[in-house]
Amino acid sequence: MSIFKDNKLQNTPVSELGEFGLIEHITKSFDCKNKSSEKGVGDDAAVLNFSKDKFQLISTDMLVEGVHFDLSYSPLKHLGYKAVAVNVSDICAMNGVATQVTVSIAISNRFSVEAIEELYSGIHLACAKYNIDLVGGDTTSSTSGLVLSISVVGEVNKKKISYRSGAKENDLVVVTGDLGAAYLGLQILKREKEIFLENPGVQPDLQGNDYSLQRQLKAEARVKLIEVLNELKIVPTSMIDVSDGLTSEILHIAKQSDVGITIYEDKLPIDHTTMNLARELNLNPIFCALNGGEDYELLFTISQDHYEKLKKDVDFTIIGHVTDKSEGNNFITNDSSSHPITAQGWDPIINNKKPQEK
Ligand code: ADP
Ligand code: MG
Repeated sequence: MSIFKDNKLQNTPVSELGEFGLIEHITKSFDCKNKSSEKGVGDDAAVLNFSKDKFQLISTDMLVEGVHFDLSYSPLKHLGYKAVAVNVSDICAMNGVATQVTVSIAISNRFSVEAIEELYSGIHLACAKYNIDLVGGDTTSSTSGLVLSISVVGEVNKKKISYRSGAKENDLVVVTGDLGAAYLGLQILKREKEIFLENPGVQPDLQGNDYSLQRQLKAEARVKLIEVLNELKIVPTSMIDVSDGLTSEILHIAKQSDVGITIYEDKLPIDHTTMNLARELNLNPIFCALNGGEDYELLFTISQDHYEKLKKDVDFTIIGHVTDKSEGNNFITNDSSSHPITAQGWDPIINNKKPQEK
């Protein structure tokens, strides 16, 4: 696309391409010229080759007030913690270990020194938890709201790296932890905000929803489970973290690995509190598990040879298998019917789409 066509100014809406389409469009003409650029755009982190046995990993995530967080229900300390955790999660998704972060902030005059201290107390806590060093950043002003951009650096043994592109036919599809809770936590926070705006005297009712609120406000990277895989001598054939929703990530692995993926409704790991809360909010828990974002679990594929090693560990759930590409990507519901998995990523940046509701 060029800005002029037939002497007319082109004005294509970004929503026509979507987030992933836009990234592909703007980056496709950039080839990596340096030998040390092992893998550029297209995975959870870029992969750099500077040493004999290890690859260096680097990834960036930007959080924008009003798009990715709302300070009326997201405490600054939690925000700082989460911003680091979600970056570490991208390093985990390469089967790597995070080592350093840089933190850049743009702040409006609405923020006091104490408020920024609060943000950094969360960043500090996450750096301690994940054993990473804050090594730099940038500070600037913003005309509206807070913007937080974090880059993370990590490393991985060359023999252990997991790309999105390595899934093979007959591999097992595995997901860590459970799904859907973070999305429901967000719905609770939004509901209470609306009630508060209508009746400022009413105190928020957050009781009994600790798990989903924690999953939304204090996301964790699954570093421990990367260690477990390492101890079990399992190198995933492909891996991605679940930031945009399970179906979106399934499609990324399938596309980049040139395979099909089939997953099963009755295998989806959903916490019982997620089930109950979804029903209370009149949402379908399966839709929440499939399409809700921000769980930051790991989705990966392994050779069937590793089945015995993982089958009893409650932190890992086998949800399906890899097929030939010709079979497509399918979701098998409990009545044994097959439904094609379509692109329905969670895409707050471009069009504020929400997971499909019941
Ligand atoms: P994730 O969800 O794991 O954070 P993204 O979907 O944000 O990954 O990004 C996918 C890939 O596209 C990554 O390799 C990322 O570095 C790259 N990318 C995203 N935005 C841009 C951009 N504006 N310019 C260049 N590369 C980008
Ligand atoms: Mg990712």
